[in-house]
Amino acid sequence: MHEISVLYRAVELAEETAEENGISRLSYITLEVGELSGYLPVFFEKYFPVVIEGREVFEGCQLRMTRPRGEALCTDCHAMYNVMECEGKCPRCGSRYKTILGGTQFELKEIGYEE
Ligand SMILES: [Zn+2]
Repeated sequence: MHEISVLYRAVELAEETAEENGISRLSYITLEVGELSGYLPVFFEKYFPVVIEGREVFEGCQLRMTRPRGEALCTDCHAMYNVMECEGKCPRCGSRYKTILGGTQFELKEIGYEE
């Protein structure tokens, strides 16, 4: 359940950013949760209300998430494929050797607020 600690960090970062910019109320925050990040969006949804509890700047704040796809390039035949859908194995030649091209990121992408 390591989602809760990274969520705390993201929420703290959003809070600091809001403070630095004189924003008193956030309307939403957007997290980028890559398919290969090892984090499950369902846990963030579950813990978000707990983590923002008592933080005034987050009152009524919505949690948004994007899920960048886990793409890989096969080292043997250079086919591009989705790691999740193909279970880590190249659909063209069957090789497991690959370079991950994206989808490993976890980050606070955006904060939204009303003027
Ligand atoms: Zn291949």
